[in-house]
This record gives sequence, C-alpha cells and structure tokens, in this order.
Amino acid sequence: MALWVCEQCSTLYTVGASQCPQCGGKDYHENGARRVGAMKEKRKAKK
Ligand SMILES: [Zn+2]
Repeated sequence: MALWVCEQCSTLYTVGASQCPQCGGKDYHENGARRVGAMKEKRKAKK
C-alpha cells in the first residue's frame, strides 16, 4: 500500500489526493516503493 509523503511537512496521505491535507502542498514523493530513510515516520502533530 503506497502513500504519498509531502515534501514540505512529511505528512503521509492518500494516493490520489490533489494536495497535502496538512499544509496544502502539492509536492510529494511516493512512500512504500522506497523505504530508505523513511523508517521513522515522524509526525508533526503539533504546530
Ligand atoms: Zn504537507
């Protein structure tokens, strides 16, 4: 199951979303295909 990772805030969100639900950014890379460096999914809940 792939997810998209926002380039700006690192939020994981659903593939197919038009933009990041967190910050509205449209830059992303796919998570799941390459998990290198993405082992720890740090959530920036507080902001
Ligand atoms: Zn974002």
